[in-house]
Amino acid sequence: AKTAGKGGFSLYSPDAHERARQRVRRVADLREALENDRLELAWQPQVSLEDGRVTGLEALARWPRDDGQPISPAEFIPLAEQSGLILHLGRWVIDTAISEARTLLQTWPALQHARFALNLSPCQLDESLPAMLTERLARAGLPSDCLEVEITESALFTDQAGVTETLNAIGSAGIRLAVDDFGTGYSNIARLKLLPIHRLKLDRSFIADLEHDPGDRELVRALLAMARALDLDVIAEGVETRTQADFLARNGCPHAQGYLYARPQPLAPLKSWLRG
Ligand code: C2E
Ligand code: CA
Ligand code: CA
Ligand code: CA
Repeated sequence: AKTAGKGGFSLYSPDAHERARQRVRRVADLREALENDRLELAWQPQVSLEDGRVTGLEALARWPRDDGQPISPAEFIPLAEQSGLILHLGRWVIDTAISEARTLLQTWPALQHARFALNLSPCQLDESLPAMLTERLARAGLPSDCLEVEITESALFTDQAGVTETLNAIGSAGIRLAVDDFGTGYSNIARLKLLPIHRLKLDRSFIADLEHDPGDRELVRALLAMARALDLDVIAEGVETRTQADFLARNGCPHAQGYLYARPQPLAPLKSWLRG
């Protein structure tokens, strides 16, 4: 078999071949899971660092498998994006999140002012998205401002045609926009001000070492100051310890999300968590 040079890629290497075969199989499995409605959502609470109240819930896609070995969305979302399945998957997430949000609101009036967040892939940001979202919300009888869409910083600042128009239409509809994984991309402040953004989600990579890394503490302080200057809400992702939460609260970070408060979980356990 032919092999490429140092560190190169070879079409004929048995490894690459096997990996490709595995991906094809995975995509077929994912398509089947979608068609048979076997994906699930897990919800992770978002809390106020001021008073500890639940101010929002983020929907995260889950693919439970028969063999008990769940596949991470960090793996199957990119696979869905590359194979074109993401549009189908994305619509499923939107429908399911809105319908579960409705259920939660009906059984849990304390969530009345909470926001329900879902993640969008860049290729979902087409011109039909805003109308689709408002139609689904209206059908569920939910106000638009209870929905927040999360878009990663890198997806927000590509020059993909039409994205700005789509985001503006989402903003005009009253739906909120959060910048996911904030701080890892290259946004410039001028462009942040031009988009209808409500909140920045500080990436977990800045939070993980807060206790030990003075540089990270400085960086987080600077990002919080910038958000204040731009009049944007902030939520810190991946908060796992009380020390991290205390640091964030002391430095004026209004919201947090992470294992310290709760793991992402399906509707039933979420309800008992909310009750507790
Ligand atoms: P993300 O949107 O940045 O979501 C946060 C990830 O961090 C989630 O991983 C969540 O389970 C995890 N996490 C939350 N709190 C903590 C913590 O305290 N410590 C640690 N170590 N991790 C924490 P998950 O659920 O595996 O999702 C991974 C990524 O997959 C998401 O990152 C998002 O980019 C993507 N994803 C998940 N669901 C969807 C979806 O419905 N649509 C799209 N387009 N992407 C999705
Ligand atoms: Ca997210
Ligand atoms: Ca994130
Ligand atoms: Ca992330």
